[in-house]
Amino acid sequence: MRVTWTGGDLSFRLDPEDEITGRASDEYPVKLATNSCSVGGVPGDAHPDLFAVAAWTIVAPWTRRRVSFDRAISPEVAAALHDGWGVEAGPVAAQARQAGRTLAISYSGGADSVAAATIYPEAPFVHFRRVPHRRVPNRWPHYQSEVLARLATATGREVTVVTSDLEFTLAEPRPGYPEHHAVAAGALLLADRLDLGGLGFGYELGSRWLGGDRYLHRYTPDNPMWAPHGAWGRLFAAAGVHIVLPVGGVSEAVTMRVALNSELRGQVRWCLRGTDGPCRTCGKCLYKELIQAAVERRPLDTPVTADRPVARKWLAKPPYGGQEMIEYALARIPGIEDTLFAPALDYFEATEESTSWLDHCYPPAIDEIPARWREQTAAFMTAEAGFMTENEARRVETWGS
Ligand SMILES: [Zn+2]
Repeated sequence: MRVTWTGGDLSFRLDPEDEITGRASDEYPVKLATNSCSVGGVPGDAHPDLFAVAAWTIVAPWTRRRVSFDRAISPEVAAALHDGWGVEAGPVAAQARQAGRTLAISYSGGADSVAAATIYPEAPFVHFRRVPHRRVPNRWPHYQSEVLARLATATGREVTVVTSDLEFTLAEPRPGYPEHHAVAAGALLLADRLDLGGLGFGYELGSRWLGGDRYLHRYTPDNPMWAPHGAWGRLFAAAGVHIVLPVGGVSEAVTMRVALNSELRGQVRWCLRGTDGPCRTCGKCLYKELIQAAVERRPLDTPVTADRPVARKWLAKPPYGGQEMIEYALARIPGIEDTLFAPALDYFEATEESTSWLDHCYPPAIDEIPARWREQTAAFMTAEAGFMTENEARRVETWGS
């Protein structure tokens, strides 16, 4: 793989051994659509390691054995690429970048992201906004990226909006981040300007520890994407931008509660379809409604019926990502047996007691936060969620086994 940056414009050329259909770090197959993209709103003079790591968040799935950058990187970043992916990276000649003093939040506007932001009220936001690609037709016009950017600005926090078409480098499964970390491409390029030493993501307990999303669905202490000692954690750290997961120890029930009680409540938005509010009919809206109804202990309020494709995932036989929250919700929503989720009751024997661990913080998640920012999350979790007992922590550690 050969990588070239011109300002914020990235182009890359595959070597003969590289593959058009590669795999992201979570093993999900991703097919390349085009070999160029842009990141707007970023300086052109960032540290070469920042350019390298930003590019790697985009080209990693398709790179097999080597990657050459257009400017020399540090031995530390080259080593992290070698140890994490087995690729030879170069040229190597730069001094490593020193970590800055500031923690920024990679802010999406969703409940998890808002919860992370609430823990660090002084942290600036970097918001990724999708824009069309100049050569790839936009077949996904329902994605209201300007709404999210407007809401991010309305929070009153210091916000830097990064515009990018990098999601269109992906043909399959659909436009999106080649690696989950590509959402940080702009934040990485801004790291010198913002004096970043850490970047906070809204990944919660399910994503960090339970192999959630499109991943393994079992306890994953060595999660390659989000563990500090995983491939990505080490690579980001080598570039002086530590991955920080402020809500990595709590479930989506806690992040939902925190977000809805926060002063950013009016700007919370997880749906990319509606313009004036969530669309209420997509799969994500259904899932979040389930969590919100459970947290608010009220009946489910959704127009979605069991015959809709978006309902299918949650009515299929487990395991699946987000299953812990289905169990949590089944145990708490009044009248759930009269909703489209009634068949799911057959798969689980969830009670409030058996799902209480999802109301508390998993202590090892605090230990993973770099020392400089650790105490702030620890104090927040002590006050707002409390910590899991040993028995509750065992629920995390035996998940999926
Ligand atoms: Zn929706």
